[in-house]
Amino acid sequence: MKNETNILQDTHGRKHSYLRISLIERCNLRCTYCMPEEGVTLSPKSHLMTYEEIYDIAKTFVKHGVTKIRLTGGEPLVRKDFPVILEKLASLPVELSITSNAVIIDKFTEVLKANGVKSLNISLDSLNPDKFHKITRRNEFNKVYNNILLLVKEGFKVKINAVLMKDFNENEIIDFINFTKDLPVSIRFIEFMPFDGNRWDMSKMVSYAEIMDIVNTHFPTNQVIRLKDAPNDTSKNYKIKGFKGSFAVISSVTNPFCDSCNRLRLTANGQLKNCLFSSSESDLLTTLRAGKNIEPTIHKAVQGKFKIRGGMNTLEEFKKPKLHNNNRSMITIGG
Ligand code: SAM
Ligand code: SF4
Repeated sequence: MKNETNILQDTHGRKHSYLRISLIERCNLRCTYCMPEEGVTLSPKSHLMTYEEIYDIAKTFVKHGVTKIRLTGGEPLVRKDFPVILEKLASLPVELSITSNAVIIDKFTEVLKANGVKSLNISLDSLNPDKFHKITRRNEFNKVYNNILLLVKEGFKVKINAVLMKDFNENEIIDFINFTKDLPVSIRFIEFMPFDGNRWDMSKMVSYAEIMDIVNTHFPTNQVIRLKDAPNDTSKNYKIKGFKGSFAVISSVTNPFCDSCNRLRLTANGQLKNCLFSSSESDLLTTLRAGKNIEPTIHKAVQGKFKIRGGMNTLEEFKKPKLHNNNRSMITIGG
């Protein structure tokens, strides 16, 4: 039998079966940890992937073993041809999911269902409308909150992403967990991560250990149940005994999960990123537009993947702001 190279396997033995595609660099919110205050320089429209190009690139990844695709952004629902993209990708044999801020998701529940989307990641960093306004620089709390309730009612599996920051929303950890008492959602606390322009510094981050200290101080230890994490899961999952929902921590900074990483990222302007923290990119779109085979470019990009956090092996290295300024802002990567 011919011994074919698996172009999605890296030099550390990791097979990549999960592709996150950013559809757009724009957003209807302006979260401070994601988008610099002055905004970002947007790619000209002609440099963004069309829906046909997204489909063509995705098809190549699926041919080589991708079984899961997540659509993200910016805000993916803001893209006008979102339903067309969804429909095209739904024709591939993959699990399709979406990360959204949910501001306008009520208009999309039917199209999501019709295309087999069952699970959604929704961002919500505060249960307090004023704080929500402060962090997102927009007054959309009620829409997001009501849309989360709507999604649950409509039968979607909902995970809520909350980026925690010191002296801002760390005092809402227990409120968020109590929110899962009667609502079957998973709240995922995310350690604040460094990207270009987001003024990250480690002292603003609430760590996994600090989160669990707060949880264990509030709830009796025998009520805090550690759940089994799914394979390749980035989160450490827990629930409070008797609660309908659960909670989790995504500890990319203090406990990276690079060993089991199966993710690759495609930016809206067609650049393949082999790691969220890597500053290098591989231009799939130009290769595709030149009528060339994109497989060698994908293979080379995957081969170049570092073992840990884009080559920042230690926490000390990771703390150097200069390294993150070579990377993009999160809004143009797609979380
Ligand atoms: N607009 C959509 C949303 O907000 O869900 C999708 C794109 S957003 C970039 C994807 C995820 O990245 C969000 O859950 C957001 O909280 C997370 N994110 C953005 N910047 C981050 C940072 N600096 N640290 C940790 N998570 C971040
Ligand atoms: Fe927009 Fe999502 Fe970034 Fe917030 S986190 S600015 S909602 S892309």
